[in-house]
Amino acid sequence: KVKMNSTRAETVVDLTLRDPTKIVQVARSRFNEGRTLPIKFRRKQLNGLVRLVEENEQAIVDAIHRDLRKPEQEAVSYEVLPTLNEIKHVLNHLDEWTRPEKPPKPLTNLMDGVYIYKDPYGVVLVMGAWNYPFHLTLAPLIGAIAAGNCAVIKPSDVSPATSELISILVPKYLDQDCYPVFLGGIKETTELLKERFDYIFYTGSTTVGQIIHKAANKYLTPVTLEMGGKSPAYIDSSADIAKTVKRILWGKCINSGQTCIAPDYILCTREVQDKFVKYAQKVILEFYGSDVEASADLCRIVTDRHFERLVGLMPGLKIALGGRYEPKDRFMEPTIAVDVSPNHPIMQEEIFGPILPMVTISNVDEAISFINKREKPLALYVFSTNKSDQGKLLKKTSSGGVCVNDTILHIATNVLPFGGVGNSGMGAYHGRSTFDTFSHRKSVLVRDFKSVPEKLMASRYPPYSKSKLSM
Ligand code: NAD
Repeated sequence: KVKMNSTRAETVVDLTLRDPTKIVQVARSRFNEGRTLPIKFRRKQLNGLVRLVEENEQAIVDAIHRDLRKPEQEAVSYEVLPTLNEIKHVLNHLDEWTRPEKPPKPLTNLMDGVYIYKDPYGVVLVMGAWNYPFHLTLAPLIGAIAAGNCAVIKPSDVSPATSELISILVPKYLDQDCYPVFLGGIKETTELLKERFDYIFYTGSTTVGQIIHKAANKYLTPVTLEMGGKSPAYIDSSADIAKTVKRILWGKCINSGQTCIAPDYILCTREVQDKFVKYAQKVILEFYGSDVEASADLCRIVTDRHFERLVGLMPGLKIALGGRYEPKDRFMEPTIAVDVSPNHPIMQEEIFGPILPMVTISNVDEAISFINKREKPLALYVFSTNKSDQGKLLKKTSSGGVCVNDTILHIATNVLPFGGVGNSGMGAYHGRSTFDTFSHRKSVLVRDFKSVPEKLMASRYPPYSKSKLSM
């Protein structure tokens, strides 16, 4: 049950906890009975998901709005549509992906059958995060279903309206035993993690990722950890500054900076920094008008706790643009800070809000060394037309992904795997990669008793001898 007051701040989820052991037991029985194996069943569930999204689009947009005051266009463009596109893409390729692969055979296996089967793991756990609370919970689920798994779905407790809606809608459209939704906070999730899963797919912070990894380790459960980090944006003087500023501020301001691949900070020369700030004033005015707080196009910070953390990062910053905030509303103006010291607290943790620090460097090599001294980011943004410097940044740094001369877009193409590296994550998904993530690639060699003469293989049997070794 969710009590909805007029503002999201008062939304309270009464967690009517379902027994995690029972949920997993039921899902495991269904899996062992083979319910999720037929492709027809998987198709039916995926089509159910399509209907879930299409028939409830407004309710989904409203719930996300209650959680984050997310504008309708952002909810539709970055949550509803990507989810639908992903399901449709999977449905179009399901037959092709589920078919056993037949790799080219070496001479020694010419007479054998050599296959790679795609086995489901079994009962998997999918844990979503609050910032894109609908998409990040359902996108991994699509691949889990397509690969033939049962899945326990655990949406984030920080976005209660969307999580509650997911828990109401999923049983209406999907098999309830195979795809149970489990609502809960830290206490309940800790209990859930004591269960044995065959795969855990987690999206959220690196700190909690470590907790998940530890829990999974007990049963050697494989994991995908989709986490975050400080994603840098490098800009040099060759970049089209007007377009650069627009594209970076768009990537930073959607969801009010609460995006795992939001550009976290900027690395550029002082000269580029001056130009950036000049253009940024125009862009913010264009995006949100002169009264940013009155604009309906900017999300709010998700909770008071997250808001206070952001405010706490501001002292000592040289603010060149923005800087206003309103705790009552959890409103924070897009804010640019210049000449930021690498030692300032804002440069020590992922910001996850609309504050953009600019750190000055003198050249591309300094930028590379700055990036390499820190944890590996989820995304790296390069704004430059200098091919040699683009290449240097691509080859000499490590990040989950890279987008050159734009932001965010590399996440939105389902032919590219999306995931982190090092502290920003392990494993990847989207499109085919989600299906592969939830499939065990089982090697199968089939030999018969006739086609390979026993004599040909006789040298493998004892008793061993030098002459057999040379055969
Ligand atoms: P969150 O608070 O929603 O937590 C994520 C999940 O972990 C939720 O299901 C939550 O209930 C659970 N959880 C939280 N604390 C727990 C604990 N102590 N024990 C067990 N389970 C617990 O999300 P968050 O962690 O605040 O998310 C923000 C972070 O997620 C940022 O670092 C962001 O970069 C990252 N993120 C990454 C991606 C990606 O795709 N790589 C996407 C979105 C967010």
